[in-house]
Amino acid sequence: MTEIPKRSLETLYDSREIQDIWNYSQNMYTINDPEKGMITPNQYRATRAFKPCPFCGKKMVHGQDTYTTPSQEAAIRLKYYYFDKSGMKKFARIGNLYYHPHYITIDHKINKARCPEKMFDYDNLQAICWRCNQEKGDDNSFEINHTQEYINSLADEALAKYPSL
Ligand SMILES: [Zn+2]
Repeated sequence: MTEIPKRSLETLYDSREIQDIWNYSQNMYTINDPEKGMITPNQYRATRAFKPCPFCGKKMVHGQDTYTTPSQEAAIRLKYYYFDKSGMKKFARIGNLYYHPHYITIDHKINKARCPEKMFDYDNLQAICWRCNQEKGDDNSFEINHTQEYINSLADEALAKYPSL
């Protein structure tokens, strides 16, 4: 009997295969929305477009015709970039298309590569902006840290608004 290396038990599925399945399913009725019934991932994004991102609070945009560009020059002019935590300038880019940094994306609360059976599970999905999705990556502590930052910023705002009497 061949021994299964521990590493391969940590990742039971090839993350590229999982990503392919996800990409392939964007126009398939795979998500069971409790209000709307079966919807596609693209419909899921559309219904949440122009709402605030739950992490950064910025309005999430939607629509490839309006919020993407193939030109790097235009991407710079439109400020389709952001600075990551280490101060690095990052473009929101897939292939040769540049996206608005708050373009709407679907985030899997539990990573889809780790738990592919929850890939289309309504309760495992949330709409977040591109930038936050990139920053989150596979970091499971992102949500709690972000909530903490958000609460702190609210507290600071309240203090600024109501200086001690
Ligand atoms: Zn965001």
